[in-house]
Amino acid sequence: MVDAHGTDALGSEAYALMERLYPLCRSLTGDGVHATFDAIEDHIPLTRTEIASGTHVFDWVVPDEWNIRDAYVAARDGSRVIDFRRSTLHVVGYSEPVRAHMPLEELRTRLHTLPERPDVIPYRTSYYHRTWGFCLAHRDLEALPPGDYDVVIDSSLEPGRLTFAELLLEGELDDEVVISTYVCHPALAHDNLSGIAVATMLGRALSQRRLRHSIRIVFAPGTIGPLCWLHANRDRLGRFAHGLAISCIGDDGDFTYKRSRRGDAAIDRAAALVLRDSGRPHRVLEWDPWGGDERQFCSPGFNLPMGTLQRTPHAEYDGYHTSADSLDRMSPAGMADAVRALLDVIDVLETDRTLVNRSPFGEPQLGRRGLFRTSGGAVATPADERALLWVLNQSDGDASLVDIAGRSGIAYPVIRRAAERLEQVELLGPAWSAATPDPAPR
Ligand code: ZN
Repeated sequence: MVDAHGTDALGSEAYALMERLYPLCRSLTGDGVHATFDAIEDHIPLTRTEIASGTHVFDWVVPDEWNIRDAYVAARDGSRVIDFRRSTLHVVGYSEPVRAHMPLEELRTRLHTLPERPDVIPYRTSYYHRTWGFCLAHRDLEALPPGDYDVVIDSSLEPGRLTFAELLLEGELDDEVVISTYVCHPALAHDNLSGIAVATMLGRALSQRRLRHSIRIVFAPGTIGPLCWLHANRDRLGRFAHGLAISCIGDDGDFTYKRSRRGDAAIDRAAALVLRDSGRPHRVLEWDPWGGDERQFCSPGFNLPMGTLQRTPHAEYDGYHTSADSLDRMSPAGMADAVRALLDVIDVLETDRTLVNRSPFGEPQLGRRGLFRTSGGAVATPADERALLWVLNQSDGDASLVDIAGRSGIAYPVIRRAAERLEQVELLGPAWSAATPDPAPR
């Protein structure tokens, strides 16, 4: 499935982008998100949309903007025992500003650790309830001597804006394929820098193609970001033809596709078909309202056809939402492969169509048209010949090429190529032009 040439470059570029994004302090809002968009813009152009803090978005309110310059806990000699400059995970996301001295006993109530994983820093946020705190490895907490500490969080939390960014590639149609990924996690690799990197590389690959559908790639902070996008686009959702949320897509785990709430949308069938055709282990899961961006797009008021593509899902790997979700687990080859899988899914969406057999009374004579093996030998592979028969047999105006690939078990690209050859000799035509054929033999 992976072509050796170019794949390595694609994967290493995705990885290099993750390395650049890793130190930035992303959150729902703030400079870390803007710097993330700046880095993405070195690969693809983005349009940014800003929504003011306090804006009502469905049942939610856009929060104040959070920015942070520095944060630490220091011993009396000035040495930093917890230092934001070493990891952005050390500060609870959306911590309000603090400057204080306090004894360890009092400070402890503000320190978050994972006693069962004593070597990793947990990831914590408090977006909608004002507080402050630090996160650290439990082992480091246990090593803190009693006494007084200086506590500083140099942050600001004030009315500002929430920003989401989009790449729009205009195709022949207004109908859009919407790809969504979130941009609110700080130093966490699989969840979610991999989604940002893969979406960026996908956007760049698609920008070199001639497209039928318009393609929109949305980069927005989790939950409130898709809600803001949906609110801003609520009058034009009729263009939303197919959607795909991508996340947790940076490792070498098997692909996992979760169906949209609709369950049998074109995107669901296209993704399942591409994974089947890959011939490799994968899972196709039913809809579940537990997950990421798809929860908003697939809420009942919208019920948009958005599936989710992941590799190892968030609940299934060690170190989820901790400092153990680091770059060294990431696979450049896996990410390149993910971009190719997404391109394959989009290729299915771009080319699936329903055609009609214009010579449906008995099999048409294919040899005469140069489509079938001649007496001297084969002009096509057996799979190609079988595909011709399947496409002719199934093209009754109801079955699309995806349906035919599904029912025949033949890979979609083979079915698609067969259809194109049959169209060239006018044995197949578009469904809308199908006059009732004359049953009398000509
Ligand atoms: Zn997460």
